Amino acid sequence: MNTNYPNLFEPLDLGFTTLKNRVLMGSMHTGLEEVKNGYQRMATYFEQRAKGGVGLIVTGGIAPNFRGWVAPFSSKLTSKRVAKKHQLVTNAVHKYDAKICLQILHAGRYGHHPFNVSSSNVKSPISKFKTKALSEKGIQKTINDFVKCSMLAQYAGYDGIEIMGSEGYLINQFIVKRTNRRTDSWGGSYENRIRFPLEIVKRIRQEVGSNFIIIFRLSMLDLVEGGSSWEEVVFLAKKLEKSGVSLINTGIGWHESRIPTIATMVPRGAFSWVTKRMMGEVNIPLITTNRINTPEKAEKILADGHADMVSLARPFLADPDFVNKAKENNSKEINTCIACNQACLDHAFKGKVASCLVNPLACHETEINLDKVIKSKKILVVGAGPAGLAYAVTAAKRGHQVTLMEKSNLIGGQFNMAKIIPGKEEFYETIRYFNNMLSKYNVNVKLNSTFDPNMAANYEYVALATGIIPRTPKIDGINHSKVVSYIDVLKGKVKIANSIAIIGAGGIGFDVAEYLSHSGTSSSKETSLFMKEWGVDTSFIARGGVEGVKADIPKNNRKIFLLQRRSGKVGANLGKTTGWIHRFSLRNKEVKMINGVSYELIDDSGLHILKNNQKKVLDVDQIIICAGQLSNNIYLEKTLKVNKNTELIGGAFEALELDAKKAIDQAVRSAAKV
Ligand code: FAD
Ligand code: NAP
Ligand code: SF4
Repeated sequence: MNTNYPNLFEPLDLGFTTLKNRVLMGSMHTGLEEVKNGYQRMATYFEQRAKGGVGLIVTGGIAPNFRGWVAPFSSKLTSKRVAKKHQLVTNAVHKYDAKICLQILHAGRYGHHPFNVSSSNVKSPISKFKTKALSEKGIQKTINDFVKCSMLAQYAGYDGIEIMGSEGYLINQFIVKRTNRRTDSWGGSYENRIRFPLEIVKRIRQEVGSNFIIIFRLSMLDLVEGGSSWEEVVFLAKKLEKSGVSLINTGIGWHESRIPTIATMVPRGAFSWVTKRMMGEVNIPLITTNRINTPEKAEKILADGHADMVSLARPFLADPDFVNKAKENNSKEINTCIACNQACLDHAFKGKVASCLVNPLACHETEINLDKVIKSKKILVVGAGPAGLAYAVTAAKRGHQVTLMEKSNLIGGQFNMAKIIPGKEEFYETIRYFNNMLSKYNVNVKLNSTFDPNMAANYEYVALATGIIPRTPKIDGINHSKVVSYIDVLKGKVKIANSIAIIGAGGIGFDVAEYLSHSGTSSSKETSLFMKEWGVDTSFIARGGVEGVKADIPKNNRKIFLLQRRSGKVGANLGKTTGWIHRFSLRNKEVKMINGVSYELIDDSGLHILKNNQKKVLDVDQIIICAGQLSNNIYLEKTLKVNKNTELIGGAFEALELDAKKAIDQAVRSAAKV
């Protein structure tokens, strides 16, 4: 028995088969499904996770027919020809003692294409395409396609399937009145509305036999008005059990819901209380999900009886060996998913192959080769921000002798500021991970040491990762005593005023506004605070958990203006899947976001701006500059004179559109070649 995580490593007996532990790798669309050599790349990607110890894997969503596509030409399984390609994946996973299920996902009205269909013709608020109600014949055909897809999955060697019945996709669109306006036997009463999922399950079970896993992802908390009531959810769960489902997975929130469910400000395991309510209502095992990113949290959820199994998805992008590291009681070496969505979900929504901010190898396993070196080099890395850390650890892991020099007294670079922003506490985990990796791979870390180009002579290779210098915009009065930089604010070097204008509404401007508008405990630390702030009824009297519930937003005691020169949405360049949360959060706290301004003057009366050709004075006591950055590459020229094997990485290389994803990716790719 594993002493640290006894519940996590308890096998789960499904009667006809046993899962070796309680960890499920949840479904994620990675985009590999659609690229050249995608099946080979997927096989390698899944094989690494199977090798890493996960008990059960669920693939990304695969459509049962073209109408069910999420986007034009996204992956579908409708023929033996394609099923044969999937055998690459199933064979790779089965080399290890792991099981894999194929997720069948029909997007319904969420399909970003003109062929999408739904229960009724109620257009989705998040797709520009209209939708068409399925006819009776269309419904029968769709059910047949789900069945056929399951049989093809069985043929392809999968151990089972997961039916995607949540997140607002087609099945969900049948279940609730919000989207199902039918008057025939598939609409109207609740019994009629749930006929569609029940028929699908029954028909699949008939065809695949009893020794095939059927997981149903049940929307337990819709988080939209007009969603299911708790009683309805329980009723459906019981019917699903009777119809032949082996496991019920938890779905939280529709994609159109305006409540964050997996972003970094969501507390860890914040929604496991929902699954707990279902425990005991059915006799089949229940899986809980959402923001479980450490073995400690997963174990606690199981130990507290919130579920029989835990689903983690993004943590397997961040670290394929998550489970084995936990098993070896070595969780400190886990590269923790910080729930930023920047390289996974944001990529998926942009049609790019997913990756991971903290692990650029994810889904690119066949592209980046970290083989051991034959001849070890003496390497100096200057700067211990994300770029320098990633470079140093990667090079040392490959067998080089690495010295990492940092001028401050701690590693982490700008992540030390990111981690103090309320809702971004997870960023600390990346620093913790790198710290452990530096000792594991014997990197010689020299803190409080400022680089001098002459030092380069002692090394065969030098990587300059000295980061950035904040940009100082040219505004009359920029040297006024009211003006401070975001670094002074976040490092606690200045007293913060009560009325503030922030110049620049990029990622950092938003973070600074969040930091300044908060008081008391960060709601990302406490589930009850988070649910109150976002208006979720944890007693589940409200339909969908939200109908008629008023959010209880903590008061912001400061007057804050967040400004940008560009016209258009403030913060338009923030993450695709998280930008709306930041805007929503600041609007709730009455931060005034103003676009299309030009900065005229700073003086004792405040910040003079021009907006729509009208002059205005923002009468503020402090002006914080968050106007982007410039590369700190001042050492390059002199260092090259001493050692021609010198390169710039991270912000020192390029500040334009720099973020940690870009910095770490570049560093790892570069260290893979040295
Ligand atoms: P840095 O992190 O700036 O590190 C450079 C290091 O070099 C520093 O530790 C510095 O002390 C050291 N150094 C400089 N000169 C010398 C010298 N002469 N000798 C020795 N050492 C030296 N990015 C995201 O992707 N997502 C986010 O959510 C996000 N949030 C952020 C929030 C905040 C508040 C801030 C400030 C930044 C955030 N970023 C975010 C940006 C991200 O942190 C940076 O893009 C990233 O840190 C750049 O990495 P780097 O290693 O190139 O530079
Ligand atoms: P940024 O996102 O590029 O934003 C810079 C802001 O400054 C913009 O709003 C820009 O808008 C303004 N600006 C630029 N030049 C200016 C000038 N000369 N005068 C006045 N305003 C000027 O950069 P950042 O906020 O410094 O963030 C740095 C990096 O960290 C970014 O890549 C960001 O994505 C990343 N980050 C990400 C997150 C996240 O949540 N994903 C959070 C924090 C940071 P206008 O030109 O319209 O005025
Ligand atoms: Fe997690 Fe961010 Fe990596 Fe996505 S990109 S897996 S959210 S750390």
